[in-house]
Amino acid sequence: MVARRSWGGAQEVCILFYTAYIRSILDYACVWYGAVNVSVLNQLATVQHKALKQALGVMKSTPNMITYAESGEKPLSLRREFLAKKILFKWQCTGEKNLACKATNLAVIALTSKYWNAKQLPPLVKVYMHDPPAHHGDFKFPTAHPFHNKYDDLTTPLSEFVPKYTDCPTHNTSVLLEMFNSLPSDTIRIYTDGSKMKEGTGCAFLAQPPSHSETVQRYKLSPQASIFTAEAMAIYKALIWLFEANDPGGNALILSDSQSVLNGLQQDPHQMRNYLLLDIVELAKRLGTRGMTVAFAWVKGHAKIQGNERVDTLAKAAITTGVEEKQLQTQWRQQWAEYASSSHNVYCKTYPDVPPTPLMYKLRNNQNRPLIATMLRLQTQHARNPTHLFRLGIKNSPLCECGEVGTLNHIIFSCPQNNPHTQLLLTHLTASNIPFPTSLECLLAKPNIDIYKALFKFVVQTGTTI
Ligand SMILES: [Zn+2]
Repeated sequence: MVARRSWGGAQEVCILFYTAYIRSILDYACVWYGAVNVSVLNQLATVQHKALKQALGVMKSTPNMITYAESGEKPLSLRREFLAKKILFKWQCTGEKNLACKATNLAVIALTSKYWNAKQLPPLVKVYMHDPPAHHGDFKFPTAHPFHNKYDDLTTPLSEFVPKYTDCPTHNTSVLLEMFNSLPSDTIRIYTDGSKMKEGTGCAFLAQPPSHSETVQRYKLSPQASIFTAEAMAIYKALIWLFEANDPGGNALILSDSQSVLNGLQQDPHQMRNYLLLDIVELAKRLGTRGMTVAFAWVKGHAKIQGNERVDTLAKAAITTGVEEKQLQTQWRQQWAEYASSSHNVYCKTYPDVPPTPLMYKLRNNQNRPLIATMLRLQTQHARNPTHLFRLGIKNSPLCECGEVGTLNHIIFSCPQNNPHTQLLLTHLTASNIPFPTSLECLLAKPNIDIYKALFKFVVQTGTTI
């Protein structure tokens, strides 16, 4: 037990605790066990629901879908699918042939055997059949390993230029020209860029040799690839192109707008966790041994620098050449919209289409566990008021002590027992220009920290159990 409604860590911390200690166990091997009997999967879902509700400090009766929305977690079925996609992507990235081969065999068995016709398929096989890795675009990840590299190759840092740009395009152009002039005249300039949009990920490079015509290459990457991967991949592909050009000697300058990748390349290679970065370092060094000097430079993105603007368009174009993939987020949105249209919970009237940003993130600057828990209970109307407790069978009567029906609106706005505090609350709301007549639903429809605080004060001062 790490938290209850009014005590314990902040909701955000409790969710982290959940991901580290509970979700990690639920995740383990789930791409395989995801095919077991539904009743077993339901038991696991119950574990998840209980943990999330406790982390948020909401009542056990709170609908599970709202719990997902407010915790920022997804249903386990979506999570399994997501992890399966991630694993397939990783196999492809690392060139893992044995496992990919096994997945293919399983897919064949699943399609042909009578036994599997009547059975649920493991998520990994299902995802594989639906979206074989071959459809992930022309993505071939390098498979460098630290042990392949010579010690000396790795320790000397790469040369890198970080010019001082401003917001003025003419100044930026002259800064770039100055840098170009400081380099030998035979330098090949290669602009690289990656792009990630909701349709997918892509990268491109634009090489401008001083004497020949320019070369353009673009690559569609797996939608799971991050923007960092896309930016690094563009550089990697550019170096491969240089390597295969069979034109030893000369100079090359790689111009990237990704500071994080360029900083990553300056790390001590022994600390590098990213094979792609390590491969870039290795390729640059190998080009060095063939007599070609490779340097890197940062260009400011979206600063009207012509080469960078062009390569940006190319990277975006690389994405749209493929089919849009149904993403986890889209599926979650669909599930939410379906749920919200059929649910009678007042919370769903506030958020009919898109699941909201969890309240704990909206109130990040006001981390207050009891306040957030109370607001979630008021928003979902799953609180310890007489009508709800009566509905749950905990109380024999839905009536308040004063004899009226004990809804939340009654307790806050019209119960004579709370009258002095209700008057204080109403005065506060009038001062905040809230239109009257109002109700709890109206007050909570839009996040307003001031109203939250006023309501919370009311709850604390009246000693109401929410
Ligand atoms: Zn009452």
